[in-house]
Amino acid sequence: MDKKGYTKEKANEIAQSVVQKEAQRRICKNEKCKHFSHDHIRNSETCLVGDCDCHEFIK
Ligand SMILES: [Zn+2]
Ligand SMILES: [Zn+2]
Repeated sequence: MDKKGYTKEKANEIAQSVVQKEAQRRICKNEKCKHFSHDHIRNSETCLVGDCDCHEFIK
């Protein structure tokens, strides 16, 4: 156990969910897109992924 009293498994679980939340924030919420913000021009405009027709990154 660490200082917070979590088991190693619990601590890993928490770390995982933080990572996932971080990743979620960078994923386009456009149902047809779901690519990362860095796949969009200036992180917010047209998606650059091949056949994706997303024109605006939706947060
Ligand atoms: Zn896209
Ligand atoms: Zn998009």
